[in-house]
Amino acid sequence: MPAPQVRWDLSALFSSITDPKIAETWARAENAADAFAAKYRGKIASPDCTAELLAEGISELEALIQDAAKPGSYANLLFAVEANNPEITGFLQDQSEKGSGIRVKLFFFDLEIQAIGQDRMDAMLANPVLQKYKHYINQVRVSTAYTLSEKEEVILEETANTGVRAWVRLFEEVLAQHEFNFENPKTGSVDKLSESEILNLLRSPDRAVREAAGNGFSEGLGKLSHVLTYIFNNILLDKKIDIKLRDRPYAEHSRHMENELQKPTVDLVMRLCKEKQDLVARYYRVKREIMGLPELTHIDRYAPLFETKEQISYDDARTLIIEAFGQFSGEMSQRADEFFDKNWIDAEPRNGKTGGAFCSYNTPDTHPVIMMSYLNKMDNVMTLAHELGHGVHASLSRAQSYFNFHGTLPLAELASIFGEQVVFDRLVKEASEEDKLALYAEKIEGTFASVFRQAAMFRFEQRCHNLRREEGELNAEEIGAVWQDELQGMFGDSVKMGDQHSAWWSYVGHFIFAPFYVYAYSFGELLSMSLYSRAQKEGPEFEAKYIKMLEMGGSKTPEELMAFVGVNLDDEAFWLGGFEAIESMISTFEGLWAATK
Ligand SMILES: [Zn+2]
Repeated sequence: MPAPQVRWDLSALFSSITDPKIAETWARAENAADAFAAKYRGKIASPDCTAELLAEGISELEALIQDAAKPGSYANLLFAVEANNPEITGFLQDQSEKGSGIRVKLFFFDLEIQAIGQDRMDAMLANPVLQKYKHYINQVRVSTAYTLSEKEEVILEETANTGVRAWVRLFEEVLAQHEFNFENPKTGSVDKLSESEILNLLRSPDRAVREAAGNGFSEGLGKLSHVLTYIFNNILLDKKIDIKLRDRPYAEHSRHMENELQKPTVDLVMRLCKEKQDLVARYYRVKREIMGLPELTHIDRYAPLFETKEQISYDDARTLIIEAFGQFSGEMSQRADEFFDKNWIDAEPRNGKTGGAFCSYNTPDTHPVIMMSYLNKMDNVMTLAHELGHGVHASLSRAQSYFNFHGTLPLAELASIFGEQVVFDRLVKEASEEDKLALYAEKIEGTFASVFRQAAMFRFEQRCHNLRREEGELNAEEIGAVWQDELQGMFGDSVKMGDQHSAWWSYVGHFIFAPFYVYAYSFGELLSMSLYSRAQKEGPEFEAKYIKMLEMGGSKTPEELMAFVGVNLDDEAFWLGGFEAIESMISTFEGLWAATK
């Protein structure tokens, strides 16, 4: 079955990298930014600033930034499908430098918004002219209470380049340059592999391959142990200093503020993830039986059970997804179908395309697009459904202006996982018994990796940060012991985390470049599952609220958006709905396996 020859149409942005509209856009943005600075510099932080002036300024800024965002978006999209074309990489670099030139000119405006005293700001926000930008203003000001003097901020900003940012870069370079030894069990030769190549072999159906990959990976991390441990300690110390200087109440504080989530909400979800983690062992006991192994270890976690056999053409995938979406909501299926009709999807597998898949929202006055490589496999259908879930959200969010367009971070995966779930239910209904088992296994393992594994990693980070604050620098064994404890806890007695696994914390980039980011994955996945189970209970009434909520884009906080669909994020029962959905998938999986015996 041939792969689809479907490429996206980006003409809403530009026609090519030599399109004269690109230079025109930059010239326009350049002039507008200068005029903007001349008009507003010193006026916003001034006591004479009115709500009207602030609203006018934000609205001008929004139009300017939306316009100037287009060449960069265009370059990124071209790069995603032609990463090996030096003309494109040069073009991308050029656009990103021009973009940052514009940003520097506009930086003062946010600083002035931050400088407005809270009482005055509250009074201004009471004025209806600012209603539309309330969320934007609050986001700009989210860290104001923890901001130091301008001089101190400048020093921290400049020294971060030789401080925390230098450690992040060293981490990335060390891992990117390291070659892992893979002793190929079939040929006996020793291959030199990159991190992603050797990690990929942990998904091999051949246990000897997985074992060799596990050994080579552990050996490599062992060689890097000194530098990786030192880097992590510096990240822990950097956080400790940040907490002290800014008088933050706890380590993950800045992450919660960025995510616009309250500590009790996150703590509730993390507690439930720990309480419910015996679901993991329940699934892996069945997996061990299916694999016919006396014991599963860390190298068996992602071993494939079966490869799904059925092939699905791109056109059939379209029909399947549109019908499945349509059963939930006509609006959803229409929005998704527009992507096919108007060529907003690049699905053709071809050389030079980067891996993975994404939906780029672009701007509300153009349209979103999707990139993936469609190879007629069942998991491609799921990927397409996932990206179209994002796509429907982006399409509906075009009702908002640019600053309210992009979804808030913890809800970023809500519509995509929701879309995936709708299609998954449809796909398994029609699959053969063996394909069903494979589909469930993949879905369940994916859910575990997001929900329970990220929660365990969050607890690992919390414990390491606390230990560093209370007891000083940590050695690799101390960090490894915390890691083993949390990850073994997740799997219970179903999978044995061998000794070599104790070093596997050291390659996780999120611990280095985005401390505490990991819980957002757990939170987002569970939120989506919980919402999906709520949708099934409520029936058709839910649909209209859900669509309306997606239409609100990023104009409100996660709490406000969820309240709109009748969900209180602090309600334990709501979150338990998500765990019930996971449990129900495991029950089905157990039943399917029992029926084959
Ligand atoms: Zn996604």
